[in-house]
Amino acid sequence: MSTSVNIVVGSHVWVGDPELVWVDGEVSSINGDEAEIQTSNGKMVVSKLSKLHPKDMEVPEGGVDDMTKLSYLHEPAVLHNLAARYEINEIYTYTGNILIAINPFQNLSNLYDVNMMDRYKGASFGELSPHVFAIADAAYRQMINEGKSNSILVSGESGAGKTETTKMLMRYLAFLGGNKTAAEGRTVEQQVLESNPVLEAFGNAKTSRNNNSSRFGKFVEIQFNKHGRISGAAIRTYLLERSRVCQISDPERNYHCFYFLCASPPQEREKYKLASPSSFHYLNQSNCYELADISDAHNYLTTRRAMDIVGISESEQEAIFRVVAAILHLGNIEFAKGEDNESSIVKDEESLFHLQMTSELLMCDPHALEDALCKRVMITPEEIIKRSLDPLGATVSRDGLAKTIYCHLFDWLVDKINVSIGQDPSSNNLIGVLDIYGFESFKTNSFEQLCINYTNEKLQQHFNQNVFKLEQEEYTKEEIDWSYIEFIDNQAVLDLIEKKPGGIIALLDEACMFPKSTHETFAQKLYQTFKDHRRFIKPKLTRSDFTIVHYAGEVQYQSDHFLDKNKDYVVPEHQDLLSTSKCSFVAGLFPPLTEAAKFSKFSSIGSRFKLQLQQLMEILKSTEPHYIRCIKPNSLLTPAVFESINVMQQLRSGGVLEAVRIKCAGYPTYRSFFEFLTRFGILAPEVLKGNFDEKEACIKILEKMGLKDYQIGKTKVFLRAGQMAELDARRIEML
Ligand code: ADP
Ligand code: MG
Repeated sequence: MSTSVNIVVGSHVWVGDPELVWVDGEVSSINGDEAEIQTSNGKMVVSKLSKLHPKDMEVPEGGVDDMTKLSYLHEPAVLHNLAARYEINEIYTYTGNILIAINPFQNLSNLYDVNMMDRYKGASFGELSPHVFAIADAAYRQMINEGKSNSILVSGESGAGKTETTKMLMRYLAFLGGNKTAAEGRTVEQQVLESNPVLEAFGNAKTSRNNNSSRFGKFVEIQFNKHGRISGAAIRTYLLERSRVCQISDPERNYHCFYFLCASPPQEREKYKLASPSSFHYLNQSNCYELADISDAHNYLTTRRAMDIVGISESEQEAIFRVVAAILHLGNIEFAKGEDNESSIVKDEESLFHLQMTSELLMCDPHALEDALCKRVMITPEEIIKRSLDPLGATVSRDGLAKTIYCHLFDWLVDKINVSIGQDPSSNNLIGVLDIYGFESFKTNSFEQLCINYTNEKLQQHFNQNVFKLEQEEYTKEEIDWSYIEFIDNQAVLDLIEKKPGGIIALLDEACMFPKSTHETFAQKLYQTFKDHRRFIKPKLTRSDFTIVHYAGEVQYQSDHFLDKNKDYVVPEHQDLLSTSKCSFVAGLFPPLTEAAKFSKFSSIGSRFKLQLQQLMEILKSTEPHYIRCIKPNSLLTPAVFESINVMQQLRSGGVLEAVRIKCAGYPTYRSFFEFLTRFGILAPEVLKGNFDEKEACIKILEKMGLKDYQIGKTKVFLRAGQMAELDARRIEML
């Protein structure tokens, strides 16, 4: 990034500030390598000259709609530009072809209506204000004109606006590629759009960060025929959060569908013997039952209607909600000690009622259900033993069953939607939209965070390579040298996590297969293996934590539940119970295991995720990518509050600053010869008067100023970071 070239008394600069991150001010004196600055918020501060950034005084009041228009491309300029725009409700800004979207947390009237869609349709990129529609339009045009598949990658932290953005992209693509002739019945694009409320009902929940937080990643592939009409779609989902089904903490909620069902019309609640959410263990671990402004009763009906449209039959819907109700009853079965300390029985009348209800709803035998919860069959080489579980073991077994059923139900929904919408095998053109969790670093970070951050490392690599490639293309077009641009590759972190053999996921699988492993032996193995790895740290004072140096910062992981969380394992007793259910829907969720699967100890969630991610990356690599970086301006989820520190952190971890850095490593500012002369002609009036062509005139000025290392392209001057500021400083001296 640019440095403190030519800072003199009177220079306008940005100086670091603990609260605002950067504040602007004027240099009032310079003493050696330090400057005293009078800041615009009324403070006098002293700073090293090398820590200051020059401020461009020519940025218009409301900022610029593309960061690359900033003459000084550095951190404070980027941050200030976003803040200035957000203040006037301009929530979108480009950085070249990357769209930065700051969540407004309010309905911006007309920003997304049909008139707006009409305006963006076919408009050339950059002609209108930055917008999600412009990105979708560019992707669509590129697909039509060049016959290339495109993808739009939406990222950002929880609550930043990814899912809302994704829905708007899908709506716009449906608008462009809709089948207007199909007036009757369900069109493909309607089905694609209505898949959203269905998946949200089962895969979203209120969390402390977002009232409608998606607890899974999603890649929607929209297929187009040769006329540019939507002809099919495929939805892939990633890593639904399993633990939420039976464990929530205040003030969060479980998945929406449970509350929707509890608010369903009376005859349905009666049929499923449902009472208020507060009577169910899986819901009453938190005090939050209702959401402001959102009606569960209304959403129940909306979900049912959306299910109709995506092609889920009435009887399937009935079965789905029966399973949802069964999970609630299942969670209310409690256990007490049996005849001896080692065994357990269903605790009391009330628990028996819920056991009865669960088995009725799942259409399986109540005794078989009780057995499946309280006993385990052990197969040893010598014999088969039925072992009893103590009450704690039975409770764990119960929760395991609930999670398994729910995950299978979710997968069923995704499959069903895919079958129902249908794929177009003849389509060569698609637009993929990725809505996936951003980088996470919390107080405690577990296996989920590792998978999420691993995803982000992968996407970051893809992003860097692409930004880099585009910069190169600009240089090639202008026929200038570009060979000395370097960027930090995060392959080392990826190797650390995914390398086979020897990476963290592989070592975790090994630990999971070895019966005597604990999280501590697993951690020890990591410490040994990665002793000298520069992206791995063993934190002091812990026996089982480990730290990974991610591109977005260090994250300390707690390995305590890694082994458990990596095991996707359906207990054979549960499997047998449900695959023989009299309800064909329930039985269908648990197709009988093959003999091989019965004896394989476990299936690894980490390895499966790695494979899914590889497949996703392969698709993405075959497409032209577009990036949208969503930013959450504050943690209060409220309009008009811009927390600089927070935003800065997200710009960093979302790779926006890295993109800026890649640009800065090359020639971050380029100006056409004409623009250059207009701005800097004053530096050499004699050149302007002389009889030179534009290009020659530019070179003369640059030579006169003694600049080195710039490049002259075919139509533009390419400047190094800081050179623009240097020229400006000279210009201001002349004025
Ligand atoms: P994420 O998927 O990134 O976790 P969401 O897309 O669910 O975040 O957005 C969180 C909330 O922010 C939404 O429920 C909505 O209230 C608000 N929001 C997000 N984007 C917009 C937007 N463009 N306009 C208005 N409100 C928005
Ligand atoms: Mg979301």
